[in-house]
Amino acid sequence: MEEKKGLVMIHTGDGKGKTTAALGLALRAYGAGLNVLILQFIKGRQNSGELAALELLTKIPAENKIEIRQCGLGFIDKNNIGEHKAAADSALDIARAEILSAKWDLIILDEILYAVKFQLLDAEKVLALIKIKPPQIHLVLTGRDAPKILIDAADLVTEMNLVKHPFQRGIKAQRGIEF
Ligand code: ATP
Ligand code: MG
Repeated sequence: MEEKKGLVMIHTGDGKGKTTAALGLALRAYGAGLNVLILQFIKGRQNSGELAALELLTKIPAENKIEIRQCGLGFIDKNNIGEHKAAADSALDIARAEILSAKWDLIILDEILYAVKFQLLDAEKVLALIKIKPPQIHLVLTGRDAPKILIDAADLVTEMNLVKHPFQRGIKAQRGIEF
């Protein structure tokens, strides 16, 4: 059972934890010597704890690498859908090139399922990425409402189930917990 097999993993559902679970996985994989790339769809420039932590981490000399890139424009509203579509398309092109580059062992496409949900990307285009993936690469997709065709193509699907969220009581996003 030691055989190496690249897994397609999906974190979906309405509960919190999709991105943080992916980041936890990134940490584990990096510590295990894997080369890890995190591409964030939709998310634009923000002062997130993960960006700062990874910047610190990359200052420590290591044989392998970990990188995070934000490929989005931030909040979506009905006036900037066109720009968001263009950003999502170019993020998808970057993802395809990186998947085929042989540089990475684990690639996380964070919030890519939101890009599908908000019709910035076709689910078929994401499925095409899964299909061209070299067999040894692990791929993680996150976001709510994973479409069935992607669930069918995945090896591991976890649904975060909303039981309670502080937002429901009007508690604002907390630094270090949400970003
Ligand atoms: P996290 O990044 O904290 O792991 P996530 O990736 O599961 O969360 P997303 O759907 O990507 O969640 O939403 C990102 C932001 O929305 C986070 O700040 C998260 O805490 C918040 N969020 C997640 N679930 C809910 C919810 N059910 N109600 C309100 N806000 C939520
Ligand atoms: Mg998320």
